[in-house]
Amino acid sequence: MFCDLKEKTALVTGASRGIGSFIAKKLASHGAFVYINYNSSDARAQKIVDEIVESGGQAELCKFDVSDYEAVLNSFSDIIQAKGNIHILVNNAGITKDALLMRMKEADWDNVININLKGVFNCSKAVVSSMLKQRFGRIINISSVVGSMGNAGQTNYAATKAGLEGFTKSMAREVASRGITVNAVAPGYIETEMTDVIPEKIKEELIKQIPLNRIGKPEEIANAVAFLASDEASYITGHVFHVNGGLLCD
Ligand code: NAP
Repeated sequence: MFCDLKEKTALVTGASRGIGSFIAKKLASHGAFVYINYNSSDARAQKIVDEIVESGGQAELCKFDVSDYEAVLNSFSDIIQAKGNIHILVNNAGITKDALLMRMKEADWDNVININLKGVFNCSKAVVSSMLKQRFGRIINISSVVGSMGNAGQTNYAATKAGLEGFTKSMAREVASRGITVNAVAPGYIETEMTDVIPEKIKEELIKQIPLNRIGKPEEIANAVAFLASDEASYITGHVFHVNGGLLCD
């Protein structure tokens, strides 16, 4: 089977909805046992677990705030004790708090940095020792096209995504000798609640700039993640995989 993930344990942050939920379902469909992380949407996260189990997969909830260092360390430690190890970590949880810089509140800067960037540090740090010991790991960080292009009204968000790409390339160099790969997937505009808030007129203008002439689907991001998580991607590390319909060619 292409992208066989049987016997692998994965943890996907922010998997209660949007792109994370599709990544979780995709990894489970390839055989992984998937931990569904989320922060507040209990019912929605449970629904993703139920969908996975009903279609023959394996999943469990794990609720924690990725920006809370102690909570992250404790949750990972519990999972590693229960399952033996985590093979695949997908750092997907992310938020936006958009405003032009001159109007941006300090709290909105801090909040986005703490969840989108410090959250990646927290989760990666919590898993790295066990991955080093098992001499295997796949870490996949969900960036954004905005990290490379920039976007008016998103200085906080773009800074986290550009930072996350630097983090990815640096961590990849630190852990490559132990069989751990660290990559980023940088989506363009994808149909989720995060983009639902974009007014229709602006969406139409955005679509005109996308050579494939449409907004992407969360499944299309999940496909890229499943590939990077698999043995077929064993020689890819420190890479930023753009999935954006041609909006930005690197
Ligand atoms: P979304 O639909 O808004 O979902 C966000 C997810 O993150 C939810 O499951 C949410 O869980 C979780 N989350 C938020 N804060 C959290 C925290 N502190 N701790 C743990 N989980 C938390 O977002 P999305 O559009 O799927 O985006 C997913 C990722 O893709 C993000 O990193 C985003 O930056 C990136 N991305 C999205 C697009 C796009 O067009 N949608 C484009 C480029 C990149 P709760 O509901 O439980 O809080």
